[in-house]
Amino acid sequence: MTLRLHNTLSGRKEEFRPLEPGVVRLYTCGPTVWGYPHAGNYRSFLLYDLLRRHLAVSGYRVRHVMNVTDVDDRIIQQAAAAGVSIGELTRPYEEAFLEDLGSLRAQEADVYPRATGHVEEMMALIERLMEGGHAYEVDGDVYFRIASFPAYGALSHLDPAGLRPGARVSTDKYDKESATDFALWKRAQPQDERVAAVWEATFGRGRPGWHIECSAMAMKYLGETLDIHAGGVDLLFPHHENEIAQSEAATGRRFARYWVHPGHLLDATGESMSKSEGNGTTLRDLLSAGHDPVALRLFLLGNAHYRATLRLGEEGLHAAGEQLRRLRDFAARVRRFEPGMGAGDAALFASTQDARDAYRAALDDDLNLPEGLGQVFEVVREANAALDAGRAGPAARQALLDLLADVDAHLDVLREEAVTLDGAVERLIAEREEARRTRDFATADRIRDELRDRGIVLEDSRDGVRWKVVRR
Ligand SMILES: [Zn+2]
Repeated sequence: MTLRLHNTLSGRKEEFRPLEPGVVRLYTCGPTVWGYPHAGNYRSFLLYDLLRRHLAVSGYRVRHVMNVTDVDDRIIQQAAAAGVSIGELTRPYEEAFLEDLGSLRAQEADVYPRATGHVEEMMALIERLMEGGHAYEVDGDVYFRIASFPAYGALSHLDPAGLRPGARVSTDKYDKESATDFALWKRAQPQDERVAAVWEATFGRGRPGWHIECSAMAMKYLGETLDIHAGGVDLLFPHHENEIAQSEAATGRRFARYWVHPGHLLDATGESMSKSEGNGTTLRDLLSAGHDPVALRLFLLGNAHYRATLRLGEEGLHAAGEQLRRLRDFAARVRRFEPGMGAGDAALFASTQDARDAYRAALDDDLNLPEGLGQVFEVVREANAALDAGRAGPAARQALLDLLADVDAHLDVLREEAVTLDGAVERLIAEREEARRTRDFATADRIRDELRDRGIVLEDSRDGVRWKVVRR
């Protein structure tokens, strides 16, 4: 079986074939680091992880690039409000983002290019577009001329009539040739100067628009044609449409061959999470409410097909936690199991092999992990019964171990953090509790800091003190 991926460009599942045999050039839209990403963003980031793991399992070498947007309107506004530079505002959020990815067990991308580190490349791309007649400057702003790119709208399947150039709508700004033309470069404003968000370009002092950054950085690290470009469905229009227009108008080549769009994550009330509207539950909210990041990973990946809408709720999270426990218990049981030569081994062996095939086929079918997991849990039930009855032999045991390894190549949930608090740490926690009880907050804080140096973070809650180990 070969992998079939739903390609938004064609609107159907297509057999995946990379441009260069054996190698996949993958670009995924990353976070805008002006706050903590909401859980919906992490649903997309985990889908990228599933995709690249499945490509690797399928024998491809994957080169994965994910951008970090560290300059845009909201970043500038927030930096100005806080009286800091955009770099000072964004770095801690960037670090937090990478830490969150780690706790969700997403594999690291090969490169996380920052927009502010690639303004030269963006300027060069804008110059190329201006030379080709695809961009024009008005009062220091530079716009992409949509009329120069007839294929505009092909990804989002928009009615081209609604985008007809010259269809000017009434706005306060009469500087663009067409209302739908979008900014590639924005002239420096006093606020931009204050937060160090300005660069000197041949076409004027200013800063890049958001869309141009992905085109410039994707092409810098992956070449003019990508195999797969992925990003949340909310980025499909206009962001991805604009990326295609900028890139293809400049190079005359296909920009990305497969477009993959994970669906929305809804909050418990059924609203789509959107950071700009401020209604997104962040990963940190969920972790500090006591949710296990690994169960969360399983929930976000395994609960619904990636293109379907998924609702984040206590019930689903709880079920994912149960599922995680069942998988881990089963894995431990199979590992411990000393196979006898029981009759019935052949039947369990056969159904385990069938489940392996079905699991693989489900993943090959547009990454249908929920379908694949369904098959796995069926054989888990059967195997538990066989183990209870002593009807399992060495062949079945090995097949089950292979199945679990297949599943964990995508899920990566079976390993448990091997954390043991040594006696010294236990004593320190007890000492701190005592200090807090006697309102000796200086000592309590000192102990907290000391533990932090050992990589242990304490969280005080109504039910007492909780702790967790963080990466150092
Ligand atoms: Zn992007």
